[in-house]
Amino acid sequence: MIVVLKHDPNQAQLESLKAWLQEKNIVIHESIGHSNTILGLVGDTSKLDGDLIAALDIVESVKRVQEPYKNANRKFHPEDTIIDLGCTTIGGDNLTIMAGPCSVETEEQVVAIARAVKASGATMLRGGAFKPRTSPYSFQGLGQRGLEILKVARQETGLPIVTELMDLSQLPLFKDVDVIQIGARNMQNFDLLKAVGHQDRPVMIKRGMSATYEEWLMSAEYVMSGGNENVILCERGIRTFESYTRNTLDLAAIPVMKKLTHLPIIIDPSHATGKSWLVEPLALGAVATGCAGLQIEVHNDPAHALCDGSQSLKPEVFDPLAKKLLKLHAAMKDLEG
Ligand code: PEP
Ligand code: MN
Repeated sequence: MIVVLKHDPNQAQLESLKAWLQEKNIVIHESIGHSNTILGLVGDTSKLDGDLIAALDIVESVKRVQEPYKNANRKFHPEDTIIDLGCTTIGGDNLTIMAGPCSVETEEQVVAIARAVKASGATMLRGGAFKPRTSPYSFQGLGQRGLEILKVARQETGLPIVTELMDLSQLPLFKDVDVIQIGARNMQNFDLLKAVGHQDRPVMIKRGMSATYEEWLMSAEYVMSGGNENVILCERGIRTFESYTRNTLDLAAIPVMKKLTHLPIIIDPSHATGKSWLVEPLALGAVATGCAGLQIEVHNDPAHALCDGSQSLKPEVFDPLAKKLLKLHAAMKDLEG
């Protein structure tokens, strides 16, 4: 349920309304906008009398929210969420570019790639330390050592790091990671989602391969209902009948998510296509469609990469692309006025 307050409501009446709702075990999310303040009510609102609340002096209107996701719903929080990482933000006016190797392999590799992508305009470093691989015989990632290497690269370049958490047992190691990535395969690992909802690092949830928009938003809701509101969504391609590309990039997810939720949406054209030559056109398409940012795999020696070499860009290919993406983003802002 959403309660839209009148402009400049009487504070005593507002406090008494909030106290009354809290007595009924309703959690209140207050969103202060330019013209109105909105109270988003979460909990068992079925027994609340909307007409009674609407009749209060300070209340402009009351609406029932049909969607099962509440905290993630734009109706609850009309302004875009902007996630502050200290040195950069995700959401808002800037274009986030997360770039780096699929997997952390060596310190030299990650530091060299981090330096290169930073010089090209990337705002974050990506890299997997714990890798979800289809085959148990494939490289599984360096684990804790991989996280240490990412931190060295952060120290060297100042780029915040985004890296995947695969299992609850790894969470203590992720305390000073800048953004925790929940991979597509774990999008509905509800215990993992609950755990990252109870800690304070921002969380990026990649869309499951066959997840609907609502299922994806319900995963965000799991994290947010635990108290962590810093959630980012990442579309990374879904399974369709097409087998030419690794997955099918769903660009419609960008305007749909911008309508349904206030959370920033990132596009991963690398896992979406599986082919390095398709990364550029789809990344440009994503920026033109209004994404908050991109996650792109970059490797200094794709032919020898331990994971996902065929979709990884060399730094010298990433460089002009990053510049084009930033120019296109600026042009889009101009067009929108
Ligand atoms: C990744 O980003 O390294 C990854 C495994 O992505 P996804 O979960 O989208 O497959
Ligand atoms: Mn990968």
